[in-house]
Amino acid sequence: MTKTRKQFGQHWLRSEKALAKIVSSAELGEADRVLEIGPGTGILTRHLLAQAQAVVAVEIDRDLCQLLSKKLGQIDNFLLLQGDFLALDVDNLLEPFPAFQRPNKIVANIPYNITGPILEKLLGTIAHPNPILLESIVLLVQKEVALRLCARPNSTHFGALSVRVQYLAACEFICDVPAKAFQPPPKVDSAVIRLRPRAIAQPALNPRHLENLIKAGFSSKRKMLRNNLKSTIDPDLLTQILESLGINLQARAEDLSVEQWVELSNQVFSLKDLAVRSPAS
Ligand code: SAH
Repeated sequence: MTKTRKQFGQHWLRSEKALAKIVSSAELGEADRVLEIGPGTGILTRHLLAQAQAVVAVEIDRDLCQLLSKKLGQIDNFLLLQGDFLALDVDNLLEPFPAFQRPNKIVANIPYNITGPILEKLLGTIAHPNPILLESIVLLVQKEVALRLCARPNSTHFGALSVRVQYLAACEFICDVPAKAFQPPPKVDSAVIRLRPRAIAQPALNPRHLENLIKAGFSSKRKMLRNNLKSTIDPDLLTQILESLGINLQARAEDLSVEQWVELSNQVFSLKDLAVRSPAS
């Protein structure tokens, strides 16, 4: 067993069942170019190489890169990049390798401590969405995070992260993966998720405003939305807007769907604008 480095979140997946589930969720075909983040010892990489046209893997650990080059370096459709995925400009690095350019799918068992930054790099943010839409992103993540990413409104796991990510991608919970599926086992359970990035049908008029509204709205989970937004929006104006959108005045932040968050932001943004402009006009 290859030794592990804690600082890189290394837990080798050893369950064939989990591996099969990850690979089938990516629905790979001969035209797919996959980007894998953190190939580790290459267990998942081998499966991807068998089904995809090309696989680019980004691994931060120099020793693992040596091992991977020895193991997989001779395979035609494999390209290994050594470095921190968060810091690398992958598109730029792939320029000399036309066969590997523009990966359309991501498949990875990622280090859990950088899940947020990885998602942000892949999807962008509400204010700055990634203009290049990946076809799908299949990830093994901490179960708690998977539940939040895939939660529907009105459920306990639905929070600011759910709204921010679901604005940019459709999120599906695929399956649970127990801690014992890894060597060494992590302290938490895991899950496979699939994200399909999409251009939102009705984008926010002012995406920055929506981002701030979500942050303020979810600032205290136990409070009603109205109370969380008290300092941001005039309470009478907010009551009027909530009523016009058919949103219960007692609603909490987790009761609103992504579409309702967008509507709310759009209304507040345009009415605030009017309120500011009207005295002068
Ligand atoms: N995919 C392998 C390993 C998962 S462990 C398996 O399923 O067995 C997570 C892997 O991500 C490790 O190999 C670790 O070295 C690598 N890693 C950690 N931080 C990284 C980063 N910032 N960029 C690229 N790889 C990283």
